[in-house]
Amino acid sequence: ARTNEILMARRRAALPKGMGQSHEIFVDRAENAEVWDVEGKRFIDFAGGIAVLNTGHRHPALVQAVQQQLGRFTHTCFQVLAYESYVELAERLNAKAPGDFAKKSFFLTTGAEAVENAVKIARAHTKRAAVIAFGGGFHGRTLMGMALTGKVAPYKAGFGPFPAEVYHAKYPCAFHGVSVADALASLEAIFKYDVEPARVAAIILEPVQGEGGFYAAPAEFAIALRRLCDQHGIVLIADEVQTGAGRTGTWLACEQWGPEAVPDLITMAKSLAGGMPLSAVIGRAEIMDAPGPGGLGGTYAGNPLATVSALAVLEAFERDDLLARSRQVGALLTDGLKAIAARHKVIADVRSHGAMVAIELCQDGDAHRPDAALTSAIVKGAAQAGLILLSCGVYANVIRILVPLTASDALLAEGLGILAEQFDKLG
Ligand code: PMP
Repeated sequence: ARTNEILMARRRAALPKGMGQSHEIFVDRAENAEVWDVEGKRFIDFAGGIAVLNTGHRHPALVQAVQQQLGRFTHTCFQVLAYESYVELAERLNAKAPGDFAKKSFFLTTGAEAVENAVKIARAHTKRAAVIAFGGGFHGRTLMGMALTGKVAPYKAGFGPFPAEVYHAKYPCAFHGVSVADALASLEAIFKYDVEPARVAAIILEPVQGEGGFYAAPAEFAIALRRLCDQHGIVLIADEVQTGAGRTGTWLACEQWGPEAVPDLITMAKSLAGGMPLSAVIGRAEIMDAPGPGGLGGTYAGNPLATVSALAVLEAFERDDLLARSRQVGALLTDGLKAIAARHKVIADVRSHGAMVAIELCQDGDAHRPDAALTSAIVKGAAQAGLILLSCGVYANVIRILVPLTASDALLAEGLGILAEQFDKLG
């Protein structure tokens, strides 16, 4: 029989340990915000494949677009033989990104690759080497991705040496006592102790840290970064791999910073193509044009099945007004979580940025005493009860929700009910 236990045993024997797994569950099929495992058990999916399924599993528009494309061609390599869906998607993403300047876009396959390429472009444009990232940030598992990532275990431990000239500043986080002024002071310290601004190619940040714990950079901070970048000719990169494609209530989270903090380059991936592998770098045309012909690309980059999927995602967002739904889902979840938090002191914080919603678990509600053990127990217990959750955070004490925006109110309520039960039982 195909049970989870038997398949997990095969998995352990055949795969390396470094391939982690949040839940010992093998999937059979999925639909919108529900998943069924190989044993026929149903789960509500609050993980969304780590922020990939803003439009849900198998969105009908996406399935239709991919099926049509399968009937035409599946691969040519865009750099060899081009196709219109790629260009159309670039045009659409250029138009949707903030900033009243000319923009260009191109496509890759993973978030890490988009980050790598944004750094390549910033270096080619500035002819400088250094890059500043932030503590607690996550930018991928490639060598530069790891270098930029601001969390050692498990992402960097044992994998060095990393590319040189990467520095980490503090990310503002009011909940843990890091003010915007503290974060800016840490940047000034890097300029004083490590590298002069004239050698810095780029500053890269997540508008809301994803793996780091769902902490948002206030607009005030982004505006200060923008000014610093303008002052010193540094490229500002917003890594919107997790926040992008409507998760935070706007198409891109950086839109919420306003016109005074428009990034030069933006990376996207995950929900951009609703479950097909696609990432993008979008940015200021003159910066994007810095690398010479052949310097950018990849064999699979911008695969046609993925580009038509992304166009279907854009269509779904417009037709079903999923940006409004993102804000609505955020409000519904926040209300539900606050009700649970009112009864459980261990939930020290409930925070949301559109439908990017998280709770932080601390003993006695004390921000200095993260409760990773309870977090892990709740995630495990919820899965047994039919709700798939993910944790995150530098101290592994944050439960994050990345449920499809297409989930019904009833399903959200059912999921919140399971979560509440777990706190009543374990909290
Ligand atoms: N940047 C951010 C902000 C991310 O959240 C992630 C993935 N969690 C990545 C980059 C890397 O994306 P991928 O796993 O597709 O390489």
